[in-house]
Amino acid sequence: MEELYGGMEGGGTKFVCAVGTGLGEIIDETRFPTTTPDETLDRAIVFFKKYTLTAIGLAPFGPLELNQDSPAFGSIASTPKSGWSHADILGRFRAHFNLPMAFDLDVNAAAFGEYHWLPKNRRLFSLVYITIGTGIGAGVIVNGKVVHGLTHPEAGHMRLPHDRHKDPFPGICPFHGDCFEGLANGPAIGKRWGQPADTLPEDHPAWDLEADYIAHAVSNIIYMLSPQRIVLGGGVMERLQLFPLIRLKVREILNDYIASPTMTGSMSGYILPPGLGKRSAILGAMAMAKYLTK
Ligand SMILES: [Zn+2]
Repeated sequence: MEELYGGMEGGGTKFVCAVGTGLGEIIDETRFPTTTPDETLDRAIVFFKKYTLTAIGLAPFGPLELNQDSPAFGSIASTPKSGWSHADILGRFRAHFNLPMAFDLDVNAAAFGEYHWLPKNRRLFSLVYITIGTGIGAGVIVNGKVVHGLTHPEAGHMRLPHDRHKDPFPGICPFHGDCFEGLANGPAIGKRWGQPADTLPEDHPAWDLEADYIAHAVSNIIYMLSPQRIVLGGGVMERLQLFPLIRLKVREILNDYIASPTMTGSMSGYILPPGLGKRSAILGAMAMAKYLTK
C-alpha cells in the first residue's frame, strides 16, 4: 500500500489540511477558518485521524519557536493574533499521533514546495520564496535545505530606501514603521491609497511604487544570498503585471553588477510566480512530511 502523508498549512485566516502520497497527489483535503487554537487544531487532528499516515508536516503562520533545544519548540511565539501567542502546535499533535512530524513556518513550507517541484534536471539548489500579501515573509532554501538560524529569517522586515517626497506614507509595521512589510504589504497599499489594494485599477500609480519596493527587496536578497531562483507569491502578486515591472527595476538597481548570464536577460525565468499557484505551502507541508522526517 502506498504511504500517505499529512500536511497542514495554518494561516492567520484559514487552515488547509491535506492527505496525499507526497508527490503532489492529494486524496483528501479540508479547509476551515482560523478561530481559537483549541477549536482549530482539534479540527485538523480529527481530519488526520481518518487516515493511517506515515508522517505529518505542520506549517503554521509565525513567528514560530524553531529552536529544538528550547522547551517551547514547536509553538507559536508572541503574536498579535489574539489567543495564539505560545500556542503549542507540535505538542498538541504529539499528544494524538505517534508519528514523525516536521514543523516549520508556512512561508518556509511554500519555499520547500516550490523547490521540491522544480524540474529535477535544472540542477538548482537554492531558491527564495517571498510572499507578499497581508504580511510579507521569505523562505530561503540553500543546498536543498530550509534556512534557519536564531529563529527563521524575517526578510519581510528589511529596510528599504524610502523617498518621503515621492511617498510620504509612513508605513504600518507596528515595530518598524516603514520596513518592507510596513510599506508594501496589502494593508499598506490600501491605507496609502485610501481603498483596498484589490480594488485599485491596473494603471494606478500604486503598482509602479509597489514594484519599486519589491525590486529593492529582491535586489537585496540577490546580493545577500545569490539564489538561483526567486519566486514571488501571495495575494498582491496575483497582479501579474507587477512581474515585468519588478524584473526591469531589479536590472536597473543591480546595474549589471552581478556577473551571471541570468542577470542580463529579461529575468523571466528567474523572478517567477509560484509554479504551484496557491498550493505551494500545502504541497510543501506534505513534502516536509515525506522528506524532512526521515
Ligand atoms: Zn517591520
